[in-house]
Amino acid sequence: MPDELLERLRRFKEDAFPQYRAQFQQLVDDGQQPLTLFIGCSDSRIVPYLLTGAGPGELFLVRNVGAFVPPYDQSHGFHGTAAAIEFAVLSLNVKRIVVCGHTHCGAIRALYGEVPAAAQNLVRWLDLGREATLPIADPGPEVLRRTEQRAIVLQLERLMDYPMVRERVEAGSLTLHGWHYVIEDGEVHVFDVRRGGFVPASQADNAGTGPYAPHDPNTYLDASGVPTAGD
Ligand SMILES: [Zn+2]
Repeated sequence: MPDELLERLRRFKEDAFPQYRAQFQQLVDDGQQPLTLFIGCSDSRIVPYLLTGAGPGELFLVRNVGAFVPPYDQSHGFHGTAAAIEFAVLSLNVKRIVVCGHTHCGAIRALYGEVPAAAQNLVRWLDLGREATLPIADPGPEVLRRTEQRAIVLQLERLMDYPMVRERVEAGSLTLHGWHYVIEDGEVHVFDVRRGGFVPASQADNAGTGPYAPHDPNTYLDASGVPTAGD
């Protein structure tokens, strides 16, 4: 039986890598300087590079079940996502943090259902989205979609509990973006607090705002999410 994974690795080296060789060498020589921390659900249907058109060196990526942000203040264990947030903000000085959830999210559905008893870490992890649920026992697609969106806003709020995040957001040097990716439409809906909800990217005038009114009224985002004022 052919080893499919091995074949893919060889194909990458032979077919894809040569086109990127110079770019990767540059990134090795200069180090990475990604502007965006992308916190996405682990779901295989979210492909951040396709969504954003990003290439090597552009996205600092952390993915987990549900695109959840654990609390900053935690004395109870190891948290890769929290560590990634701290590193991205303090060491890489990213300028934006995207939290990207999506339609048909298994994590959000699991909030309303049963999780295998052996999945003790998963059960605990899902607590990070619990507050987003609605008091409905048998949720239909609309309720699930609203829960997915509420969960994204909840994570943005939790991000603001990270002192280094809050500090930079308030100083205007970091922006937060809540995205809900509608897989079947190929469209991201961005959270805009000024419009009070999620807006399809095709109708939005920014790439999303945090869960609060921007501190500096002069700091607005252009269509690609780049702050037009402030650093
Ligand atoms: Zn998901």
